[in-house]
Amino acid sequence: MSAQNTQDQLLAEIKELKIQLKEAHDTLEAIHSGKEISVSQEHFTLLANNIPQITWTNLPSGQFNFFNKRWYDYTGLSFDATFEGSWGHIIHPDDLLLTGEKFNQSMKTGEVFEIENRCKRNDGIYRWHLNRSIPFKNENNEILFWIGTATDIDDQRKSIEKKDEFIGIASHELKTPLTSLKAYLQLISNYKKEVIPGQVKTFIVKAESSISKLQALVNDLLDVSKIQTGKLDFNQAPLSVKELIAGCAENAGYMFPDYNIIFNAAADVSVKGNTERLEQVLMNLINNAVKYSPLHKDIILSFVKEGNQVRISVTDYGIGLSTSQLDKIFERFYRVEVKNRMAGGLGMGLYISMEIIKNHKGTIGVQSRINKGSTFYILLPLLS
Ligand code: ADP
Repeated sequence: MSAQNTQDQLLAEIKELKIQLKEAHDTLEAIHSGKEISVSQEHFTLLANNIPQITWTNLPSGQFNFFNKRWYDYTGLSFDATFEGSWGHIIHPDDLLLTGEKFNQSMKTGEVFEIENRCKRNDGIYRWHLNRSIPFKNENNEILFWIGTATDIDDQRKSIEKKDEFIGIASHELKTPLTSLKAYLQLISNYKKEVIPGQVKTFIVKAESSISKLQALVNDLLDVSKIQTGKLDFNQAPLSVKELIAGCAENAGYMFPDYNIIFNAAADVSVKGNTERLEQVLMNLINNAVKYSPLHKDIILSFVKEGNQVRISVTDYGIGLSTSQLDKIFERFYRVEVKNRMAGGLGMGLYISMEIIKNHKGTIGVQSRINKGSTFYILLPLLS
């Protein structure tokens, strides 16, 4: 064999060795990543099976491909029954349609799936669950699969229901004696007016004012309870926006003599609504503007036509709200936590206002900056 031949053969052998090495390397990598996958799968299953919630995963098509142990324990379903059966087995018939709609909507849009519904336990009892599912995406933002959890919130729901029931009964029971108390006070103040000493008259005025505050509170509680039971309904008729705001501005002028209630009126427009309820909303906004603006005394009311809607605004230059607070102030019983704050309240006003405006097919919102002030606005559809 010539030297040239030996060199060629060696080169060929080196090439072959290189190929084999590459293959071995690839195989090792595959084994290694395979191990990682199986370790992470084990990790996931261990985690999923040891949390108190029901967990599942599903493909972007909506097809379920995993349920944790909690699911099988809770539902009593076998593996086969789980994957063969439909949701109708587990979800309460009254919640089925909405659950299906929301789920399909999420699968279509990639939006987080969230719904509270009743799921049947292995003994046939339905318990409320909070279902949430989030998409897991790759680096190209494509959804690989969805991870869902169902948390048992039955006890919380029941205690909220009990609290709502209590609020309903308590406010109802308080209303009757309060009304007669007010009537008796009126009788006392009118009885032999000329002989009532001045000091007693002052006491009567103070008692009347306290009773009015109590009545307002009880009425708010009653409204909250009506909203909860879906009974906050009222008649609606065409009304003038200018007259509505002018009435409230006049009222507020008497109620808050230290403040400048400024009404910037525009050309009148009409909406369909309930005057009393819309007054309630506006007076609540004005009341808040006063309450949360202890130093700056200007409160500006205005309205402007915007397309087929009217925008009614109440502006103050008071303590304002931070962005995180803005999201929550329309929630029931929400109050911004401020130490040593003097302003009283139970966090019902804006919640009730929002429900009233919703019933008018309108929207309510706020623009605000901390320490600069707030503008609460209402958008109502115009009468065409
Ligand atoms: P309440 O005033 O009885 O607490 P509301 O539902 O009317 O209840 O208001 C909820 C919360 O929103 C208030 O506690 C307050 O923190 C905040 N808020 C409402 N109006 C204003 C305003 N004009 N300026 C600043 N904060 C406000």
